[in-house]
Amino acid sequence: MFDTLQDRLHEVFKNLRGKSRLTEADIDATAREIRLALLEADVNLGVVKEFIANLKSRALGADVHKALNPSQQIIKIVDEELVAILGGEARPLRFAKRPPTVIMLAGLQGSGKTTLAGKLGLWLKGQGHSPLLVAADLQRPNAVNQLQVVGERAGVHVYAPEPGNGVGDPVQVARQSILHAMSKLYDVVVVDTAGRLGIDSELMQQAADIRAAVNPTEVLFVVDAMIGQDAVNTASAFDDGVGFDGVVLTKLDGDARGGAALSIAKVIGKPIMFASNGEGLKDFDAFHPDRMASRILG
Ligand code: GDP
Repeated sequence: MFDTLQDRLHEVFKNLRGKSRLTEADIDATAREIRLALLEADVNLGVVKEFIANLKSRALGADVHKALNPSQQIIKIVDEELVAILGGEARPLRFAKRPPTVIMLAGLQGSGKTTLAGKLGLWLKGQGHSPLLVAADLQRPNAVNQLQVVGERAGVHVYAPEPGNGVGDPVQVARQSILHAMSKLYDVVVVDTAGRLGIDSELMQQAADIRAAVNPTEVLFVVDAMIGQDAVNTASAFDDGVGFDGVVLTKLDGDARGGAALSIAKVIGKPIMFASNGEGLKDFDAFHPDRMASRILG
C-alpha cells in the first residue's frame, strides 16, 4: 500500500541525512520533491498545495525542534501534515442514545458495501453489540442473497424481504427492519442500500428516501480507494444528493498510490471512519489518521 509514495519520501529524507542545518534552498528542494511525490501518488492538487505551503512555512519558521536534526525535523513535519490531511483525530462511530443505532451504507455498485456490511457486523459483534444487517439493496438480483451469505460468514443476522414478494420496496424494507430490530433487541442496524455503476438521480433519490425513512445515526459513504480522484468526485456527488457523516475506504490493499485516501477527508471535509484492506471479513478496522501516516512513512 502506498509503496511508491513511501519510497519517494524515504529518498527525500535520505538526502537530508548528514546535513547539520537546512538552508532555504534545501527546504525549497525538499518541498519540490515532496510535492512531486504527492502528485505522483494522485493526491488532489489543492491538498498538495496546502501541504507544501504548511511544510515550507513550518520548516523555515520557528516551528523546528532544536533537539532534532534536519532530517528528523522534516520527517516530523511531514508526519504531522499527513495526519492533518487524513483528518487529524480519529472519529469514532457514534451510537444512538436510544437503540437501535442505525448505520446506513451508501455508495456505488462494486464499492464493497455488501462485504463491508459483514465486516462491520463482525466488528460490532466484537465490540459487544448485537447487530442486524438489512438487505435494502433490491436492485441487484443477487444482492439479498450475497448479504445473507456474508451475514452467515460473520455470524450476524440478516433482515431481508420475504422471497417471492416481487421486487419489493427498499424504503419499506428499511423501515420495517427498524421495527424488527426493536422487537428483537438488536442494538445496531446496518442498512445496505443499492448502488449503480455510475451516479444517477434515481439512485440518489432512493438513498435519500431510505435516509428519510430510517433517520440513521450515521450515514457512511463507502468508496473504492482504487478509483483515485474519482472517489473524491463521487463522494462529493453523494454528499450533495444524500448527505453522509463519514467515509469508509475499501480496497486499500489494492491501492498502490493512495490518492483517494490522502485527499478525500480534506476535500470533502468529512472524516474517514473505517478502512477495508482485503476480501476477508477481518480485513477491516476503524481508521486512525496517525497510524496511517506512520504506515506511509514506514
Ligand atoms: P457492493 O456492490 O458495493 O455491495 O460491493 P461488494 O461488497 O459486492 O464488493 C465488490 C467486490 O469487491 C467483491 O468481489 C469483494 O470481494 C471485493 N472487495 C470488497 N472489499 C474489498 C477490499 O477491501 N479489498 C479487496 N481486495 N476486495 C474487496
